[in-house]
Amino acid sequence: MSHKPYFPSEGRDREAILAQMRELKEKDMNWRDGRIFSLVFSAGDEVLELLKEAHALFMSENGLNPGAFPSLRKFETEVIAMAAELLGGNASTVGNMTTGGTESILMAVKAAREYAYARNPQLKDPEIVLPVTAHPAFDKACHYFQLTPIHVPVKDDFRADVAAFKRAISSRTVLCVGSAPSYPQGVIDPIAEMADIAREKEIPFHVDACVGGFMLPFVRKLGYPVRDFDFSVPGVTSISADLHKYAYAAKGASVVLYRDAELRRHQFFVYTEWPGGIYPSPTMVGTRPGGSIAAAWAVMNFLGESGYLRIAKAVMETTRKMIAAIDAMEDVYVLGQPDMSIFAIGSETLDIYAIGDEMSLMGWHMDRQQNPACLHVTMNYGHVEGHERFLADLETAVKKARKLNWSKVSTKVTVGLVKGLSKVLPEKVFSKLVSSGSGTPKGGQTPKRTAAMYGMIGSLPNRGDVESMVLDFMDQTYRVDSPEK
Ligand SMILES: *Cc1c(COP(=O)(O)O)cnc(C)c1O
Repeated sequence: MSHKPYFPSEGRDREAILAQMRELKEKDMNWRDGRIFSLVFSAGDEVLELLKEAHALFMSENGLNPGAFPSLRKFETEVIAMAAELLGGNASTVGNMTTGGTESILMAVKAAREYAYARNPQLKDPEIVLPVTAHPAFDKACHYFQLTPIHVPVKDDFRADVAAFKRAISSRTVLCVGSAPSYPQGVIDPIAEMADIAREKEIPFHVDACVGGFMLPFVRKLGYPVRDFDFSVPGVTSISADLHKYAYAAKGASVVLYRDAELRRHQFFVYTEWPGGIYPSPTMVGTRPGGSIAAAWAVMNFLGESGYLRIAKAVMETTRKMIAAIDAMEDVYVLGQPDMSIFAIGSETLDIYAIGDEMSLMGWHMDRQQNPACLHVTMNYGHVEGHERFLADLETAVKKARKLNWSKVSTKVTVGLVKGLSKVLPEKVFSKLVSSGSGTPKGGQTPKRTAAMYGMIGSLPNRGDVESMVLDFMDQTYRVDSPEK
């Protein structure tokens, strides 16, 4: 870089900075109109205002040193106590707040690994056993902590195959995992059966309730059937549950809970030899954001059980209506029997990604899933009002997808796709992806229609190509835009 226009030599005007930021926000996806799923959880403006105030009050405080900020220690320990009450814990249950589901999962995996090494210092090539539907945070944990993930299939109902799970456990297994519910299809694994097997073999069992932990207890209380998934199941030794999802807290807040203090001890880190002093750190990060901790405590106290029940009721009633309406439509259906407010839409007759494209063109942001191909919906309080518009638009999208002359459109889509991807693909992969590429298309926007891309990516035999393609994409993404843009 020959010029340096990013870091201003003189500070800029406060109003100009804020105006620029507001302007940039205009171009972001507008989650307030309820057309975006799973990235934002909203319980309305009243909660949002409270979160802002609570967050701002403790924005500068640091949860790394609970001695310096007893307020944060109180918030954290009480949030953990509230979560433990909701999730079948008792006086022995312990835990910590983390900055998110991934950090909670990293901690549970790390604790289980250290626990295994403590019991068997000769342990070689440790593994964790998890259903294919478990969140990639577990694979990330394996990537970071040198473990091998052993993925087991799910059955036709998208719940873990218990027999396959049992077979996958070996003398190297340090942790078993189930989800409540799994993210892709929103179904709860057979936790009780799985945890029983793990318990018999004296292996810790983690329940990933990141997305369900602050929803399922209320769903059950409302009278919906919810199978046992928490500490009420004897073999369950740890649970992750995200506050920044269905607890509607500010981002950067989750909990990891342990059945007892012995296991959690292996989560902690202490370094005693540092010239800077003895350094104890409970979780992955060093500095811990006081704002997120405080905001979580605030919203839980503000809503209380009755508030969460009221919200969960509205979300569940809307979800059930949507699932019934989608199942009544031709050519699309909801996969499996979702246990709460997360579900996936598939099609046997149409290209579901093309339906996703039509939804994108109408302003809906839905995740594309694979194996099987489907679209993902996470319903939260922010979606209750707009659900009829969603159903009407889905109906329209299905009609359009039905009319698509696919062979004709796909050429057009491929051209758009080539424009979008050519920038980010390595030559080698690019030529493999697009055999009929003519010339080098320049720049261009991310294509709105991505069905062809997902189709192609899904059918690439070599997953290593996909990985390197995505790595290149990430490399490009995390580079600053040129100033003239
Ligand atoms: C969201 C989620 C995670 C990861 O949480 P982050 O807060 O995104 O790190 C893990 N598991 C499940 C089931 C999730 O839905």
